[in-house]
Amino acid sequence: SATDLEAGRRAHELDRAHVFHSWQAQALFQPMTVLAASGSYVWDGDGNRLIDLSSQLVNTNIGHQHPAVVAAIQEQAGRLCTVAPQHVNDARSEAARLITELTPAGLDRVFFTNGGADAVEHAIRMARLHTGRTKVLSAYRSYHGGTQLAVNVTGDPRRFANDYSAEGVVHFMPAYTYRSYFGSTTEEEETERALRHLEDLIVLEGPTNIAALILETIPGTAGIYLPPPGYLAGVRELTHRFGIVLIADEVMAGFGRSGAWFAFDHWDLEPDLVAFAKGVNSGYVPLGGVAIRDEIAATFDERAYPGGLTYSGHPLACAAAVATITAMREEGMVDNAARLGREVIGPRLREIAERHPSVGDVRGLGCFWAVELVKNRETREPLAPYGGSSPAMTELTAALRTGGVLPFVNFNRVHVVPPLNIPDDDLHAGLDVLDEALSVADAHVG
Ligand code: PLP
Repeated sequence: SATDLEAGRRAHELDRAHVFHSWQAQALFQPMTVLAASGSYVWDGDGNRLIDLSSQLVNTNIGHQHPAVVAAIQEQAGRLCTVAPQHVNDARSEAARLITELTPAGLDRVFFTNGGADAVEHAIRMARLHTGRTKVLSAYRSYHGGTQLAVNVTGDPRRFANDYSAEGVVHFMPAYTYRSYFGSTTEEEETERALRHLEDLIVLEGPTNIAALILETIPGTAGIYLPPPGYLAGVRELTHRFGIVLIADEVMAGFGRSGAWFAFDHWDLEPDLVAFAKGVNSGYVPLGGVAIRDEIAATFDERAYPGGLTYSGHPLACAAAVATITAMREEGMVDNAARLGREVIGPRLREIAERHPSVGDVRGLGCFWAVELVKNRETREPLAPYGGSSPAMTELTAALRTGGVLPFVNFNRVHVVPPLNIPDDDLHAGLDVLDEALSVADAHVG
């Protein structure tokens, strides 16, 4: 309505005057206004309806405004909005029970945080105190969060400007077959060479200094590149052999995104600590946390854990998590995500790849897919440089928006990461728009 458009214009004006945005050059940034969203749709400030193939920052796994979760937040707000973290609270207890039901056996405790970065920070702190060691290994081409230590362990250009006080952080090359650092031409080769590199790095860094190895089970923002067969088992073997705590960062990949509750379920990986956030309650209220293996939790049985947050286990966030996990179970959303990946997104993206020369690679699982764009399929030269954009990517993003799709775009990639319960028709409509928009990218192939 005219009132909504006016409210949007006013919000935009105030935003430009007073809001300082994440990761942006403030004066150059042109944010989109969103005052309303429902299911897989968002409406922009001009009243256009867009299909949300981004799930915002890949967090609205149950879509926008799920009625059961909205009701649970309202009910909790009417009863008890907040409580200090040291007190027992029913929403928090139940959220912890439900989460530990989903994590591997032997991870029976949860430390709640406000989001993913602080979950990563606390997981590393626990690993350091548990082992008495300081070094942390993490992968290039990864993202672990924007706070100091989380951005230090990140392997993404956002780290560069923040790379001080990174004591003990050592990066390794992950297995990434499409752009193999090791010159591999097959997945088997990539697994073998990436594991040999990791073992060498551990030996050269001094195994008895290394507290933890952190990795995204399926790296998200860095490109949804799936671990080749045997890679995660090899990482688990190395971390066991050298007494290193294995931290799985499931902030983006977890809670159904990949068509399993956790991405590590696809490879029967059993990590020691699991960092989660985003999908745990679809981000309706900020929440993250660490699921902790019993032996590590026991380190803090007689000795105080030196860490905490005013809002650890916030009742509104935990009530939202309980309702989200319950709705996901009742509505079979994780199986649906697996089906959408297998029957809709995968086949359609492969077919799209055949017709568009700008598509270098498509890969993913469940509702977690990347389309990697190139100038040339033989050389695999990316359509935008690492860490940057290009006119081709800017035009493609604009064409997607004009076509009615809100995409997730990073460097030379478009990610197809819709809510797990997106109706098939909407998903097809969104993929039709992608198909059409890719002709813009094809024009830059040379
Ligand atoms: N870890 C991963 C894998 C992520 O994708 C993100 C956010 O995108 C984070 C950690 C950081 O989470 P937050 O932004 O909630 O701090």
